[in-house]
Amino acid sequence: MANQLFSTRVVHNKLNQNTALNSKATPIYQTSAFTFRDLEHLESYYSGDTPYLYTRENNPNTDELGQAVANLEEAEAGAAASSGISAIMAGILSIAEAGDHIVTAEDIYGGTHQLITKQLASFGIEFTMVSFADPEAIRSAIKPNTKLLYTESITNPFLRVEDIELLVEIAKEHDLKTMVDNTFATPYLLQPYTQGVDLVAHSATKYIGGHSDVTSGIVVGHRDLIAKAKQRIIGLGTSLSPFEAWLTQRGSKTLALRMKQQSQNAKHVAHVLKEDQGVARVYYPEYVSERGNGAIITIELAEQVDFEAFFKSLGWIKLAPTLAGVETTVSYPIRTSHRALTGEEQERLGISDYTIRLSIGIEEAEDIAAQFQQAIRESIK
Ligand SMILES: *Cc1c(COP(=O)(O)O)cnc(C)c1O
Repeated sequence: MANQLFSTRVVHNKLNQNTALNSKATPIYQTSAFTFRDLEHLESYYSGDTPYLYTRENNPNTDELGQAVANLEEAEAGAAASSGISAIMAGILSIAEAGDHIVTAEDIYGGTHQLITKQLASFGIEFTMVSFADPEAIRSAIKPNTKLLYTESITNPFLRVEDIELLVEIAKEHDLKTMVDNTFATPYLLQPYTQGVDLVAHSATKYIGGHSDVTSGIVVGHRDLIAKAKQRIIGLGTSLSPFEAWLTQRGSKTLALRMKQQSQNAKHVAHVLKEDQGVARVYYPEYVSERGNGAIITIELAEQVDFEAFFKSLGWIKLAPTLAGVETTVSYPIRTSHRALTGEEQERLGISDYTIRLSIGIEEAEDIAAQFQQAIRESIK
């Protein structure tokens, strides 16, 4: 399997083949528990000979999803969780506990920022946030109790492409673990685990699921760390439900097709918007991988554009506080993903009233670009 090309592997990633009726699609095991013939059969669960007991602990659909994404990332093991945030939490908690310290990039997803600065901090996990664009800033943030370096492969909202090799090198120097949120890139573009990263997390709510119809998360990596992450998911009760796992896994089959089309479309739209005088700046990565540069574009509208009018002029493009669906959408970081940051933090990261994040979908590139151009034209002051 591993040596098949990605687009082939992504479709043939059906792992729970042991169904009595040979159904083409994996059945949904919509059950909270599994039954046992007798006490001997029950004991066989604890000896590892029978796979399932109770869905919060494990279920064929959630297992399949975790393994499927592990395969795509070429990682040893994977675990699904109830959301991207709970997958990230499980991953961090497989490495750090009260009294430990983690170093994170400052330009991470707003929800992850909250997780680390409010939730995990309240349980005694210390943190320092620095610019990961500066290797010396990372090195000087490391303390004797540091356990983990945490970042995103493509950051949010300005789409800085992380230097994974450098990060792994710094971690090795100090005997630390690394964890990377690969949500924006997906394994279609980047596979941080193959570059030496210990844990890779996904908000599968985004590209892995791809259809904006499910909230789920995945963490993949070394077998021993994933076993610990799984215990956190089970113990904290953040398991994914079978139906959500099934939906996510179904969506994942078109990941390669979608990413290919969405990346191509984004390249076109970024090019068109760069030429538009209503746009002061376009943030779009110059190089992510030979397969493309992803489908998120962040723009800064020019001052002559009324940003409130812009949102009213978008026609079929909807304002939605998410990304990565098949439909093109826009989001407004200052009022959604980065709302909880202080004004000072927003300013330091460069997020203003004029900052708009575009998630480019699978429609015709010309139609997407034309709709944005029309919205800008209609909202010039
Ligand atoms: C959305 C998102 C998350 C959080 O995922 P949820 O599924 O909403 O919990 C984490 N990281 C990134 C980069 C995201 O875009």
